[in-house]
Amino acid sequence: MGSQKLQKSQKVRLFPTTQSHRTGESAPVSGVYWVEHSKHIARREVYVHQGIHFPACPRCGEALEFRLVEQVAPISEDPDFS
Ligand SMILES: [Zn+2]
Repeated sequence: MGSQKLQKSQKVRLFPTTQSHRTGESAPVSGVYWVEHSKHIARREVYVHQGIHFPACPRCGEALEFRLVEQVAPISEDPDFS
């Protein structure tokens, strides 16, 4: 602990999960997903609701890759709020 130095020399991808989902697949869980498409979409996190079909790039129609970062239950599905 104590050292917050990021090891930038190692080009480790920061995706915490290895399973990826492609355009056209439906989201297995509601949650935050990474999406990256260097041509048109800056890498970002997006919330995708369970069952939603992952979209293609709206500009070029190319298939995209999504990776689950964190599963997030909508409040309507959270047992503490129901
Ligand atoms: Zn595109």
